[in-house]
Amino acid sequence: DISIAQLLINAVNDFPNQDAIAFMGKRLTYQELLEQVYCFANALKRLGINKGDRVAIMLPNCPQSVIAYYATLMIGGIVVHTNPLYMENELEHQLNDADAKAIICLDLVFNKVQNIREKTQLSHIIVTGIADVLPFPKKWLYKLKLRKDGIKVTIPEEIGYYSMKQLISQEEPIPVEIVYHSKDDVALLQYTGGTTGLSKGAMLTHQNLISNTYQTTAWLYKAKRGEEKVLGVLPFFHVYGLTTLMHFAVHIAATMVLVPRFDAKMILKEIHKHRPTYFPGAPTMYIGLINHSEISKYDLSSIQACISGSAPLPIEVQDKFEKLSGGTLIEGYGLTEASPITHANLVYDRVKSGTIGLPLPDTECRIVHPETGDILGVGEIGELQVRGPQVMKGYWKRPEETNATLVDGWLNTGDIAKMDEDGYFYILDRKKDVIIAGGFNIYPREVEEVLFEHPAIQEAVVIGVPHEYRGETVKAYIVLKKGFQLTEKEIENYCRQKLASYKVPRIVEFRQELPKSNIGKVLRRVLKEEENNKSN
Ligand code: ATP
Repeated sequence: DISIAQLLINAVNDFPNQDAIAFMGKRLTYQELLEQVYCFANALKRLGINKGDRVAIMLPNCPQSVIAYYATLMIGGIVVHTNPLYMENELEHQLNDADAKAIICLDLVFNKVQNIREKTQLSHIIVTGIADVLPFPKKWLYKLKLRKDGIKVTIPEEIGYYSMKQLISQEEPIPVEIVYHSKDDVALLQYTGGTTGLSKGAMLTHQNLISNTYQTTAWLYKAKRGEEKVLGVLPFFHVYGLTTLMHFAVHIAATMVLVPRFDAKMILKEIHKHRPTYFPGAPTMYIGLINHSEISKYDLSSIQACISGSAPLPIEVQDKFEKLSGGTLIEGYGLTEASPITHANLVYDRVKSGTIGLPLPDTECRIVHPETGDILGVGEIGELQVRGPQVMKGYWKRPEETNATLVDGWLNTGDIAKMDEDGYFYILDRKKDVIIAGGFNIYPREVEEVLFEHPAIQEAVVIGVPHEYRGETVKAYIVLKKGFQLTEKEIENYCRQKLASYKVPRIVEFRQELPKSNIGKVLRRVLKEEENNKSN
């Protein structure tokens, strides 16, 4: 029963001189990190940020995002993580829904914030350039397409506008007493991915986040405290990156090798140079790496453990990445509302490919009939429900949605799943994505797995589109590997050898890329909307 910020103090007490952050060729030890956190926390206090105030953070992975996060939590504030790629209307919705009092944003997105400021309750806008906290080597600035003089915008000299760098430099690193009242204190309003529609703020308490940190540390990978290096490319503004990367690393006093965006070559270079031991990621990241033409030039042998979550991990991808890196890539599962991890395979034990593994310690699971709610048995297909200390308190200001999603502590995941006789779980698909063609249920994932096995296919996604006789029919969107060609007919014939006829995609569309969410998840919703617009 402690604040999640306490884990940072623990790391500093035990390993003050261990590097906490490696970022673009520069380093920050745990002691130095804490000093910056104290300075910034003192500055926020001076600006009048109090317990329970919402503070938005709109930054890519960089030292400032870690500093802003811990400083806000130390003084009892509630963090609202915001995607720097949000458009103005999305940002406005989130800031207003959360009623944010302050925002810490990247200079490059300052104009977006400025344009909507009048329509929000924001009292303070704090701006930082990516190069502000650590001196930045020029070559990285070119790669990131940033200007070498850092701050690109002029911060207005008016009350309510600040430079994060200046705020920090004006303060002394005087220790701040952590403001924490009870285990129900909310630490984070984490807006859901929006993959299926309206983005809601999941209230995650300190206890939720601490629990998931302990659960994953105990389960995933037997890390050695003070000795590990974590590759930090999953964004912190998604709770998957926050837990498996920042919380995990701080808990075990590991070095976070931060990378502000996914670029396969940049990642290969960072792995080669920093030799990280642990690399949490999403399937699209591993797909991007294994298909990179220069992968064999880089030494990936430091990698021991990787966890893939957020979307299904194709077995082909798992095998190939393991062969190329020599490490173990396991699949896990979770959702924003559960801080997020509820299931995972074990790195050093039995791994069942194609499954999301076993429930984490202290996590109860059951499969229920989607309509009647009856509890189902081994091998039966239904909706997955989970209960445990990592499950959210509820949705912020949405009691109806909360009551529909959380019943007696059980969280409805909205995912269709089954459990085998060994207790391993399989995700078949999202309840909303199941395609019903001529009365048959088709799980897009099954079709996608088959498509993935084809040597010419790099990425594939399947949706249901309206059909006169069958109700729905299967449509596949395909991204081909460079230098390969395939026709619609060839794909259909290939699928016919591996799938029952009703599951075979009848329509195929080739694309250069697929629409994806901030974490690299394919947005079926966008493809479905395109289809709907066509038929209207
Ligand atoms: P929204 O809830 O706003 O529609 P979202 O569902 O993408 O967006 P997240 O909480 O980011 O929000 O994602 C959780 C979902 O991701 C799960 O409910 C599940 O559908 C999917 N998912 C996560 N891990 C896996 C996995 N290993 N295999 C298959 N699906 C997964």
